[in-house]
Amino acid sequence: MQTPFYQYDLALLNETLDTAHAQAAKYGYMVHYAIKANANPTLLKVISDAGFGADCVSGNEIKTALKNGFKPQSIVFAGVGKTDWEIEYAIEQNIHCMHCESTQEFHVINHIAKKLNKMARVALRINPNVNAKTHKSITTGLKENKFGMSVEEASLIFNSANKYKNISLIGLHFHIGSQIMNMEVFKNLAREVNRIQERLQSKAHPYLNLGGGLGIDYNNPMINRIADFEGYFKTINLWLKPGKDQTIHFELGRSLVGQCGQLYTRVLYTKTTKTRSFAVVDGGMNALIRPALYGAYHCIENINKIGQPVNQTYEVVGPICETTDSFGEAVSLPTTERGDLLVIHSCGAYAESMASDYNLRERPQCAFIRNFELEKK
Ligand SMILES: *Cc1c(COP(=O)(O)O)cnc(C)c1O
Repeated sequence: MQTPFYQYDLALLNETLDTAHAQAAKYGYMVHYAIKANANPTLLKVISDAGFGADCVSGNEIKTALKNGFKPQSIVFAGVGKTDWEIEYAIEQNIHCMHCESTQEFHVINHIAKKLNKMARVALRINPNVNAKTHKSITTGLKENKFGMSVEEASLIFNSANKYKNISLIGLHFHIGSQIMNMEVFKNLAREVNRIQERLQSKAHPYLNLGGGLGIDYNNPMINRIADFEGYFKTINLWLKPGKDQTIHFELGRSLVGQCGQLYTRVLYTKTTKTRSFAVVDGGMNALIRPALYGAYHCIENINKIGQPVNQTYEVVGPICETTDSFGEAVSLPTTERGDLLVIHSCGAYAESMASDYNLRERPQCAFIRNFELEKK
């Protein structure tokens, strides 16, 4: 296969989905897959087949979800900047819930639903001001972030909700950030949600969505292949005090698909300057932008030199005309040569879905590892 390419291990994906499903089922939790993590149709079909709902952040994501087996009643829709056609489409498709992020948007949803002569099911996205203790670019629940609304604003909407004749206000939504490894953060979220629910008296509403954000182990992708779903749901269950008729929803992206994907890229050149050695590879930030965007770490191995002593340090860089087009400044590798194949691990989430054709580069193709069970289907 021509490099660079993404490779998805569908056996690992299935194992991950089964684990998440089993752990969520213990508490009757409903999990929606956050499509923006990876919208590859092959993955989407596996995920919808496994019984997950979908979490969408655009109208086109809703279309893609419907096309790939997700049922309208399993789809939820968030986004700080929904356009009129997206709201209209969501209402027409009769999705489960829209997450409203401002008072003005609430007015607009009501107006559009009225025009369509429909009821829109809506939850308010609250900004709980809980620190996700993750990278600042993927923190979303602090009061200075653009997402959601304050409890005060939500309270005003709750008090006047019966004036909005075309909205059925069904509950609350939260999402505080991504790549969260510290369970203490989810405990803090659950406790804050309890306080907010008391204040808004929202426990009688049927819907409560705690968002996504569970992290994966980028440092040890071969050892920790499956995220800590057990600890995550257990923590929420321990601390959350929902109303007795509330269904608890989650929107997991990275933790469901992150470890099942890898990016394969070939070394084009090696060169040494006064300060460092470079390995120049054929995959760039257009295929995997996380290191350039957030300084994110991805584990990199040289497939052709497995078993050889890891005795060199390279900056592994792509071909794109940007200094930030780098996969790691000091990557420990065996002595690496032109033609060697490198694998960049943990590329299942936010790699293919963030790919671009910058510098007019081809987007990488995809290869799939399937297990026997899948082959039979
Ligand atoms: C991105 C996003 C998610 C998924 O986040 P992960 O960290 O990938 O689990 C969930 N909900 C909303 C609203 C999002 O924007």
